[in-house]
Amino acid sequence: MAIPNTKAYAAHSATTPLEPWNLERRSPKPHDVALEILYCGVCHSDLHLVRNEWGMTVYPIVPGHEIVGRVTAVGDQVTKFKAGDLAGIGCLVDSCRECDNCQHGLEQYCQQGFVLTYNGQERDGSGITYGGYSKAIVAHEDFVLRVSDQLPLSGVAPLLCAGITTWSPLRHWKVGPGKRVGILGLGGLGHMGVKFAASLGAEVSMLSHSPAKAADAQRLGAHQFVLTRDEAQMKAVASSFDFILDTVSAEHDYSTYLDLLRSDGVMVCVGVPPVPAQIPAMNLIFGRKSLAGSLIGGLPETQEMLDYCAAHQIVSDIELIKMEEINVAYERMLRGDVRYRFVIDMASL
Ligand code: NAP
Ligand code: ZN
Ligand code: ZN
Repeated sequence: MAIPNTKAYAAHSATTPLEPWNLERRSPKPHDVALEILYCGVCHSDLHLVRNEWGMTVYPIVPGHEIVGRVTAVGDQVTKFKAGDLAGIGCLVDSCRECDNCQHGLEQYCQQGFVLTYNGQERDGSGITYGGYSKAIVAHEDFVLRVSDQLPLSGVAPLLCAGITTWSPLRHWKVGPGKRVGILGLGGLGHMGVKFAASLGAEVSMLSHSPAKAADAQRLGAHQFVLTRDEAQMKAVASSFDFILDTVSAEHDYSTYLDLLRSDGVMVCVGVPPVPAQIPAMNLIFGRKSLAGSLIGGLPETQEMLDYCAAHQIVSDIELIKMEEINVAYERMLRGDVRYRFVIDMASL
């Protein structure tokens, strides 16, 4: 049995705007949790996928993987949640649970293939997944997170992607006291990266191509602001960072930022520009530098991050929008005109 007529917003092609659409959610199976979605963050990945910039989009697409809501129903085997609880869903709704990575809480690297919250293929072949730009969602309890009732929920929503995507590499590469860290790009991911790196005790520099964001960088916890378009400022921080987190969504020259690493430094890409980059091997060889990537985070680590945020009163800086404002919000995000995450108030749908 299915639940028909769930209101949503969908794109039907790469060149048409998002518009109202109705979809069907499954009735909760024994291990499922059904949520009424209260807030959904707007990630740049939503825009990349709606416009098929990664060449993998299936239409119609209902984006949204920064979901916070209230549990409305649970299957009879569910132990973690009950109706009325607050809960969150991030980028994943399923994985094999059996491979080595799943067994170690690294579901984002599932060797059998994880299931994305939207534009994913259900493992049982029942179709494509639809995301959080909708009134309700149903998912297996293993992929539903506990959310604190002590934080503003609209600011919690972006933690489910922007939060965990920056938290995971900072933790994996042991960012903390004594480490000089550069966060490249002050957008949705970047502003969480600065907050976390500062909270973990690192010395943080914001590397941004937008001079107008300097004051905000400091307020978010950065100790220094480096305007990446300014040659003198870039020269002053050459060979100085232990770790750089690259959150830039658009095409850019990686070598420019590798130059800012000291020997044995690591630059981790989380931004996914639509165009492949060219990186001369020489730029890694001199200084024994590493270039790595990182994908969101696993379920245990996502819960750890949410609990850390509750304990340290950390949320995302957001601008609340109505569902019907989503197409304008995408244009503004492309211009870097968001401080620092749009979040959709689902009451407006
Ligand atoms: P966003 O809010 O749009 O922020 C991107 C930032 O990149 C901008 O604020 C800007 O910062 C910088 N930027 C944009 N265009 C630039 C250009 N032409 N040159 C230099 N810098 C530029 O995007 P987001 O939601 O944070 O997402 C960032 C990227 O991460 C996207 O590609 C997204 O798909 C990806 N992502 C990856 C994962 C993962 O698991 N790896 C998860 C989520 C998102 P400044 O103005 O400060 O320069
Ligand atoms: Zn995302
Ligand atoms: Zn697996």
